[in-house]
Amino acid sequence: MTQTAPTTPARGEDEGRRFASLDPRTGEVVGHHSVASEDDVREAVRMARDASEFWAELGFDGRRARLDAWRKLLVKRLEELQTLISAETGKSADDARTELALVIDHLHWAAKHAGKVLGKRKISSGMLMYNHAASLEYRPLGVVGVIGPWNYPAFTPMGSIAYALAAGNTVVFKPSEFTPGVGVFLASTFGEVVPEFPVFQVVTGFGDVGAALCKSGVDKLAFTGSTQTGKKVMAACAESLTPVLLECGGKDPMIVAEDADVMAAADGAVWGGIFNAGQTCAGVERVYVAEAVYEEFVRLVTEKASKLRPGGQSNADFGPITMPAQVGIIQSHVADALERGARAVVGGLESIRAPYVEPVVLVDVPADAKAAVEETFGPTLVINRVADADEAVRQANSLAYGLGASVFSRNRGEELAGKLRCGMVSVNSVLAYASVPGLPFGGVGDSGFGRIHGEDGLREFTYAHSVTRKRFGAVLDPMTYERGSRTIRRVVRLVRVLYGR
Ligand code: NDP
Repeated sequence: MTQTAPTTPARGEDEGRRFASLDPRTGEVVGHHSVASEDDVREAVRMARDASEFWAELGFDGRRARLDAWRKLLVKRLEELQTLISAETGKSADDARTELALVIDHLHWAAKHAGKVLGKRKISSGMLMYNHAASLEYRPLGVVGVIGPWNYPAFTPMGSIAYALAAGNTVVFKPSEFTPGVGVFLASTFGEVVPEFPVFQVVTGFGDVGAALCKSGVDKLAFTGSTQTGKKVMAACAESLTPVLLECGGKDPMIVAEDADVMAAADGAVWGGIFNAGQTCAGVERVYVAEAVYEEFVRLVTEKASKLRPGGQSNADFGPITMPAQVGIIQSHVADALERGARAVVGGLESIRAPYVEPVVLVDVPADAKAAVEETFGPTLVINRVADADEAVRQANSLAYGLGASVFSRNRGEELAGKLRCGMVSVNSVLAYASVPGLPFGGVGDSGFGRIHGEDGLREFTYAHSVTRKRFGAVLDPMTYERGSRTIRRVVRLVRVLYGR
């Protein structure tokens, strides 16, 4: 569960008890980690349950003080964590720093707002129950299990971890097998500011460790990863009626309307599709461009994307493909599109040189090509010409995924955004919603359900606890066998007067 001495030579060796995380840029070993057994996972959850009382009793102010101390520690050690993220994912130093800036902003927001959003408050008891006082508070669930992916190994799980902790839960986190060191770093720095109890622990290993966490008796399981694994997580959690939050994949569309600022749209498409080597759940994958601005848009995207180069140096535009198996998926999507008549205006199959993939921009891609419907998770863009923005909305809404989207339009941005079936939309920018801590983040359909971030993200890790207190006896009390028949008649008359007109 914790980081061990770097003696194991390769991934998955040593009788399956330890494994290495590797730098995808070089294949070098970044660190060694133990493979948690099912018993280890159960023990971690048991310890987390023991720690729950301590953490819950600190109250909002006490937890805020600890979470603020953790935030300051993370800021102090930002370069160290950035280097670790870059080593385990291969992403460029600036992509890792951008990720960490968002982590810190969200941690600050969750700690600051938890009391206001979740704390006890009075609720109006209404005309019929005027003699009762009503109150509501949102209580922590207990122990929250978090399973995270490798593409944003700090930002995506922290969307659950920070909000679950701020809401008063303890957490057991299973990071991706590709980024265990980042998980260990987060838990060990938290342990420096909360040394008394294991409030936030990490269990490392492969997919079966995640599966064990689903069955370990946690009070909620927050999963971020592929739709395919999300379905397995939900099925496993169903056995014990463990509630789940599923943040799954996407195939996010961008709409470029007739009245768009085409330069800004091209800039957004290139950055949104290619930063972090396109390994972004809510990255731009498919672009629908109105006929009137199509040629200019493709020209600008071609010009901008052609200049970008992946590499292992810290100043590269973007890094390698982190997960080796993903390279084959990118290759199959590009090959399938080209075979079906698409054209590559930037790059092509020759751009795929594992572990690096140079930008590939495809146009005239058939609507049912893999590159147009499945998550590619590479530095690729699919651009298709449509008659107008309304046709673009129809195409954008045509898939089962519904995570995020972007719209570029000078006059119709919010109107078009309102027509999109997805969790988040940025108008005249890309991915802006992820950087606004107060906005909930999550999808619909195959992109999952439940929300991280914002007030909804805090409530996601709580249950509502409602209380009424009778203040005085009512003239009309229908909830007793002592009532007379006139009481009910009067109540019905009152309802008619109040609500019948
Ligand atoms: P995976 O679904 O492969 O894995 C996600 C996590 O689940 C990993 O920690 C993995 O462990 C674990 N896991 C694997 N099998 C099981 C199982 N049977 N039961 C429980 N846990 C299991 O996703 P990736 O790591 O490849 O991440 C990429 C995906 O994540 C993309 O689809 C992307 O769109 C999505 N994503 C979604 C986001 C969102 O907020 N909606 C944000 C970021 C990514 P191990 O790695 O050890 O196999």
